[in-house]
Amino acid sequence: MAECAGITRDGERCRVGVGPGERWCYNHDPARQDERKRNASKAGKSKPNRELQGIKARLSDLADDVLVGRVDRGNAAVAGQLLNTVIRAVAVELKVREQMELEARLEELESALERQKDNGRRGYG
Ligand SMILES: [Zn+2]
Repeated sequence: MAECAGITRDGERCRVGVGPGERWCYNHDPARQDERKRNASKAGKSKPNRELQGIKARLSDLADDVLVGRVDRGNAAVAGQLLNTVIRAVAVELKVREQMELEARLEELESALERQKDNGRRGYG
């Protein structure tokens, strides 16, 4: 399989395989830059994603505080466990959301198929 002609952020050749007749992978295709930007900002703005970023920031603050002795180790351990629980809940929420989006797209496809079938029937009937 041919490899993408793009260069990664590390300055190395991108090793993602591309289909016949294609030069770039999704991440490096100049023609899909706008699409990438739209998708990235959509994903970055989703609520679970923002929550995860916030929790990550708090966990790293917590780690810093423990290391400099600003927070008691026991308290930090409990806080860490609680934040972990929140992370799991957010991850589940993310999964449910993804599933719902997939379901909605499937329903769209199904109704498009139905419409096609109806048109076919009308055409030959
Ligand atoms: Zn690439």
